[in-house]
Amino acid sequence: MQSVMIKIGTSSLCDDLGVLSLEKMMHLVVQIVEIQRRGIKVTLVSSGAIGAGMGVLALKEKPTQMKQKQALAAIGQAHLMKAYEDVFKIFECHCAQILVNHDDFDDRKRLMNLTNALESIHEYGAIAIINENDTLATDEIKVGDNDTLAALMAPIVKADLLIITSDIDGLYDDNPHTNKDAKRIPYVQTIGQDIMDMAKGTVSKVGTGGMSSKIHAAKIVMDANIDMAIVSSNEKTGLLDVLEGKDIGTYFSSKLGRNLSLRNHWILYRSIPKGKLIVDDGCKKALLNLHTSLLSSGIVEVVGVFLQGQVVDIVDVQGNIIARGIVGYASHEIDLVKGRKSKEMQTILSTYVRGEIIHANDLVLMEGKHGTSN
Ligand code: GLU
Repeated sequence: MQSVMIKIGTSSLCDDLGVLSLEKMMHLVVQIVEIQRRGIKVTLVSSGAIGAGMGVLALKEKPTQMKQKQALAAIGQAHLMKAYEDVFKIFECHCAQILVNHDDFDDRKRLMNLTNALESIHEYGAIAIINENDTLATDEIKVGDNDTLAALMAPIVKADLLIITSDIDGLYDDNPHTNKDAKRIPYVQTIGQDIMDMAKGTVSKVGTGGMSSKIHAAKIVMDANIDMAIVSSNEKTGLLDVLEGKDIGTYFSSKLGRNLSLRNHWILYRSIPKGKLIVDDGCKKALLNLHTSLLSSGIVEVVGVFLQGQVVDIVDVQGNIIARGIVGYASHEIDLVKGRKSKEMQTILSTYVRGEIIHANDLVLMEGKHGTSN
């Protein structure tokens, strides 16, 4: 274990009214400092800005309007970081605040800056504390919840493990708040419908995601060969126990995961698709079963305006996204050759460079084993 990403949920820091508890924070920070002392690189994704904003303003309920949440995030983030600074200072540890949105990952240059900055923060021995830039987040560019944000960040810091702290000590086979016989699931190797069903309906009062976003996060990291654990922040030594392999919370092993390359993982999860190519059933079959390149003949519709080199969704006629890939041609060019044989492309397109619309190496299926190499 060389690098661990820890996501701290709002409920692990604040009470139901968003009042930040320094005691709760201290309890986690002690363990984080100990993990660092063991020579493991630690990166934090911390929620709590909107929650802490509620606490600062003594609001009784989380507001529903976007602009109110954006204001609370701005108010609460300062309060949150001040608290982290105060607590980490006791251990002579510096904090570094990073606020990101999804488009920061989409843009390769910004992603590279982020990666390099994180590396230097670690070299300085400081703790990076990442949160979504909620105040500037619009629907198009937001990640939406910090479980997903932590999962998207984990490959960037080459994490071996993502630990998600929560007010609940793992995944249960039923909702433990309503069914006292619900049993904890200690170990998960594949995320199927059964696991997703177990996660339904568990939401926290102050947090955003609930268990469903944690399962989604598990899928993202497992596809990148990274393990994940959900532990309760109420466990005294929960973070350390997970690292020591104790039976605590729920552990998601990536052993059977897809082991996507960083590039394919970026295509599938970190990029923001700029359009859609709707494909017919024959083309869908070829993509899913044979992992072929996407050819012009199978495309029935081009949706959106995009440039060569951008990522698009490949969608079947029923509307299901089956793959994502980097297009070799711009949308207006694909529009001219859709439904036509590849051989015809040369005469139709003055900009002809190759016969594939998306080469197999640039195409990643949403599910399955294909698209694993490079
Ligand atoms: N970014 C939000 C905050 O700091 C939290 C999102 C989440 O809980 O997933 O309040």
